[in-house]
Amino acid sequence: MPRPARHALLTLAAGALLACGGGGKTLPRAEPDRPTAPTSAGEQETSAAPRSPVDVAPGPAEPPTQPPGAATTSAAESAGTLTPEARIADAGPLASSAGEASIPLWELDERGKIAPAPAPSDAPGVEADDPDDLEDEDGKGQTWITHTVVPRETIELLAIRYRSDPGKIRSWNKLPSGAKAKPRTKLRILARRTPPPRQYIRHVVAPEETWGRVAHRYGVDPSDLRAINIHRVKGTIEPGEELDVWYDPTILAAIEGDAPPPGPAAEVSPGAYAVGRPHEGRLVNGTRIPESDAYELRYPGSSWGTTNSVRALVTGIHSWRESSGYGGRLAIGAMSRERGRPIGGHLSHQCGRDVDVRLPLYEHLPQNRTPLGRRVDWWALWQLIVALEETGEVYRIFLDYKMQKRLYKAAKEHGVDKETRRRLIQFPRGRGSGRGLIRHSPGHDRHFHARFRCADFEVECLDA
Ligand SMILES: [Zn+2]
Repeated sequence: MPRPARHALLTLAAGALLACGGGGKTLPRAEPDRPTAPTSAGEQETSAAPRSPVDVAPGPAEPPTQPPGAATTSAAESAGTLTPEARIADAGPLASSAGEASIPLWELDERGKIAPAPAPSDAPGVEADDPDDLEDEDGKGQTWITHTVVPRETIELLAIRYRSDPGKIRSWNKLPSGAKAKPRTKLRILARRTPPPRQYIRHVVAPEETWGRVAHRYGVDPSDLRAINIHRVKGTIEPGEELDVWYDPTILAAIEGDAPPPGPAAEVSPGAYAVGRPHEGRLVNGTRIPESDAYELRYPGSSWGTTNSVRALVTGIHSWRESSGYGGRLAIGAMSRERGRPIGGHLSHQCGRDVDVRLPLYEHLPQNRTPLGRRVDWWALWQLIVALEETGEVYRIFLDYKMQKRLYKAAKEHGVDKETRRRLIQFPRGRGSGRGLIRHSPGHDRHFHARFRCADFEVECLDA
């Protein structure tokens, strides 16, 4: 299932123009991960090279996704899961006494779905400014918006959300460097993307519900949920208690409208998403790689990922087992911890989109041998990478350049055409080349590292 060209890609390059569909800017190279400290819990990645910064490449901008003033409900409605006939239930916690209208609340409709009320014009959220203001600063379709901050939002996350820059957001709003976003304040932001803002609902706790279940239901971060409600609920929640929930309509629509893919990925739960970037991020409501005969999980405690990544990984591996007939062992190393964030031995793997996979050995060898180059079934590996790529969800594969030669040779010997080789592998263009899905990263010589894309609903996720 190929995916459409992606917008505003953040891309890594290595001193050359990018091959992928980003803005074509030259950026410093960033490696997927490097060791932070020796650990017994992961496959060691051995380079100690300094970490390169990852910059934002301004890609082709998306047109605004909604007309001015209609931002608060369009995503949910377009997903067909939320009813417009909602009732305003109460005044929200951010309702102000200073002449501002109350913020509406929402109730569950009879199907148990969340039904939003139309928001008043000054509700927290995003609104495009005067049409005269909707100018492109550099001809790239950027839009000035006014965003009203909701609890737990940070300027850094808003910068990701709107594909902007934290320093610029502070500067446009005359905030000192390091200033934090305060709930209810308005920020002017020049946005490249305008996903609808978070919405509020007051949730009444039902029997059997836990913090985690409520968080999963709305697609919010459990730690945010707890922090927002700390003033009224401490410890476990009890039926009948009321919780303030600020949910993202794009994420909620994805959860409610989820259609699991057929096959082995069907058991991967929806609603697990990445926030931030692979080197500095977290995983929200993570889903675990399911147990399977097709592979083994070396580090079950670090086998959590986003829905998009885990589904693509599982789908790709099963498809590879069928198409290649490879009967050897496939060992999956670290992905992420349940909530992401730093993991021993890695700098990336923080948001559930990175996974290490041991290079597959020739089937006739004992499968516990160290995967040195001469023992690796390079053709099986090529086919595995092709199967993963065919999911349409792989952002990048990292493999040490000195191993790429063997992989390239196997592909050539098995008749893979030149065009496909050029598309999939950096070799022989040099380890600094910014072309090919497979890129050099030091230390990746006994395993490869696959990085999956942000799904469209992951509005605060950056590809790299
Ligand atoms: Zn890795």
